[in-house]
Amino acid sequence: MASGTTQPVREWWDDICTQCGACCYRRDRVAGELVVHKDLPCRFLDTETKLCTTYDTRFKECAECRQVTLVHALFSRYLPDDCGYVEKFRFWKRRGKPEAADHRG
Ligand code: SF4
Ligand code: SF4
Repeated sequence: MASGTTQPVREWWDDICTQCGACCYRRDRVAGELVVHKDLPCRFLDTETKLCTTYDTRFKECAECRQVTLVHALFSRYLPDDCGYVEKFRFWKRRGKPEAADHRG
C-alpha cells in the first residue's frame, strides 16, 4: 500500500481479502490455468489458519511478498477466481451472479 494511505482506507482494502491463503503459495500458469502448489507455501504462512505469521512486517521479511493492488485485482493472472479482490473488482466475471459479499462485519 502506498505511503500516505489513511488507516481506514488501508483497513477497507485489507478487509477485501478473504484470507484464503492462495497467494501465499507458489503459483504457476499451466495451459492457461492457475495452479496453486499447496505443497509449496511461503515459509511465513501458517497453513492451518491460512494466516501470515509476519503480517505487519511481511514486506520486509519476505522478498516475494507483494501488496495486492487494484491493478492486480483487475488483471493479475495469479489470483484465483474466488480471491476477494477478483470477486469484488472483476465485475465482468459476475454477470448474472449475485453481488459479491462485503466481507466486513
Ligand atoms: S509473507 Fe506474504 S506471501 Fe508469505 S505468508 Fe505472509 S502474506 Fe503470504
Ligand atoms: S488470493 Fe486473494 S483472498 Fe486469497 S489470500 Fe490472496 S489476496 Fe487474500
